[in-house]
Amino acid sequence: REQAISRIVDLMSKSKNTVVVTGAGISTEAGIPDFRGEKGIYRTLCEQRVMNIINIDAFKRNPEAFYEFYRKHFMFPPVEPSKAHFMLAELEKRGFVKGIVTQNIDNLHQRAGSRNVIPIHGNGDRFICTRHGCGHVHPASYIEAYPELVPLCEKCGGILKPDVVLFGEHIHHYFDARDLILRAKLLVVIGSSLTVYPLAGFVKEFSTFYQDLVIINKGRTELDHAALVKVDTDNTGAVLEEINRRL
Ligand code: NAD
Repeated sequence: REQAISRIVDLMSKSKNTVVVTGAGISTEAGIPDFRGEKGIYRTLCEQRVMNIINIDAFKRNPEAFYEFYRKHFMFPPVEPSKAHFMLAELEKRGFVKGIVTQNIDNLHQRAGSRNVIPIHGNGDRFICTRHGCGHVHPASYIEAYPELVPLCEKCGGILKPDVVLFGEHIHHYFDARDLILRAKLLVVIGSSLTVYPLAGFVKEFSTFYQDLVIINKGRTELDHAALVKVDTDNTGAVLEEINRRL
């Protein structure tokens, strides 16, 4: 691990353009479980069941069933950003990280102070009215306090939808995310199994042309074979703190 960290410090100090890609694994230390890790719901429940419910057609067909599941598994308890989030914000401030593309919907990068964040799966803190012509935005606290299962718009009574990308929907900021990744000199993936598309596809595309790929993840990922450096850890905060200290 010592050697791997030295290598990453060397790569980051030479790179003028380091981009970071994050998945659910960066937020487990903050207390939000991932889906594909040991305790994730893809292990405890069936992945197909999750895909069938957290789905735009299922939301339209049966918002009650959708919200029953969503409230239980996707509305995270109030948590603070972890050391890993703060370290990435610090690295950006110091000019060592240009931006972050994240699959997470927890807003923790932004709350830790990262500025250039592209949340391609949306923002779980926002709920948008689906009634044609309204689109009023509500905070998560409104949904938590709502007396019924399916929250309705405070302005017009329309059904609210979480501002996150459900199965069957397009990701947000597709081209901005892809451009940021493909223009990077060094790409650092943190806490992602690299199985969720299209983000995994962007990283794959990067790695077919360029070699400067670093992966920090607990367990294997789909692109371990293509990485210059792989750190297998569940203590991402400590690894990033060490990198930050040595840069
Ligand atoms: P994923 O594919 O990004 O997998 C998470 C990876 O992180 C796993 O390989 C796991 O072994 C690893 N990991 C877990 N804890 C770690 C740690 N402390 N340090 C380093 N690595 C660690 O993501 P997923 O869990 O399959 O989730 C799929 C999608 O669901 C996400 O892309 C996201 O949109 C959504 N989701 C979001 C959140 C969140 O916002 N925090 C949480 C769960 C799921």
